[in-house]
Amino acid sequence: FIIPDWFGFTKHIEDFYWKCKSNSEGKVASYIPQLARMNPDYWGVSVCTIDGQRFSIGDTSIPFTLQSCSKPLTYAIALDRLGQEVVHQYVGQEPSGRNFNELVLDYNKKPHNPMINAGAILVCSLLKSLIKPEMTLAEKFDFTVNYFKKLAGGENLGFNNAIFLSEREAADRNYALGFYMREHNCYPDKSNLKEILDFYFQCCSMEANCDTMAVVAATLANGGICPITEEKVLKPDSVRDVLSLMHSCGMYDYSGQFAFKVGIPAKSGVSGSLLVVIPNVMGICTWSPPLDPLGNSCRGVQFCQELVSEFNFHSTYYDHRYDNL
Ligand code: GLN
Repeated sequence: FIIPDWFGFTKHIEDFYWKCKSNSEGKVASYIPQLARMNPDYWGVSVCTIDGQRFSIGDTSIPFTLQSCSKPLTYAIALDRLGQEVVHQYVGQEPSGRNFNELVLDYNKKPHNPMINAGAILVCSLLKSLIKPEMTLAEKFDFTVNYFKKLAGGENLGFNNAIFLSEREAADRNYALGFYMREHNCYPDKSNLKEILDFYFQCCSMEANCDTMAVVAATLANGGICPITEEKVLKPDSVRDVLSLMHSCGMYDYSGQFAFKVGIPAKSGVSGSLLVVIPNVMGICTWSPPLDPLGNSCRGVQFCQELVSEFNFHSTYYDHRYDNL
């Protein structure tokens, strides 16, 4: 096993869990009522290693919507089906240094990266019109859900229609981003903006729990092979690109500091979820709705800091990085 002293390791995870539980900072997202109603006390942590060992503690079976945690997944599908070259004709690789939904494009008039709203909307347009363009909207939705499910080893993955409808109602900024990109000819030919945005809201409104999302993170940690089913879901090259951009752009405008202090590829979402990938070792998902001013889960960020203070997971740690497991 990749973690020889599994019991000792999970004891540490439990300790970190309890430490973070008492953290009462942050505010639950309030831009739509369904998220505003979330209980701020929810707190769960799930771990899945690349050889399928699993551990979870807290609220790990309550579903939440993926929100921005869907961004690395749609980006992964685009890369896997279209290749890096095609995808990056349309979207950059640079942190924007701005808010996740800021009305800004890079110097080429492309979205900065696929981990912020503009880039993720653009990636949705690629999924819609470049991969099997003959598919109907319904088929495209199923195609995407099935991909997410494969990443999750076939575990539960749902769709929250109330959140989808609310997202679409409260979407002025996303529409503004959508039009701004259309003004600059960002989309592939014959794209339909309204359909692209609906597809983006649908991806944000997919629903899963911590246990399931830890498997998704573990599939990314395992080079694209799901550790539960052993199915090869993504190519290693696609996974490498996804993790590179999670590393540099996954935590909104905290990404640089997170890369410095924690040094692990991660992606946060506005429902309070955090996907954490320790390449070649494990995937972790944490979930707790209260967010800091930059939009990251307060308990999730603290958990990652606790994790690297005990284990040498920081990707630039000099050597023997997994020695003390
Ligand atoms: N649905 C949200 C939006 O598009 C998702 C963003 C997020 O998780 N930060 O604004």
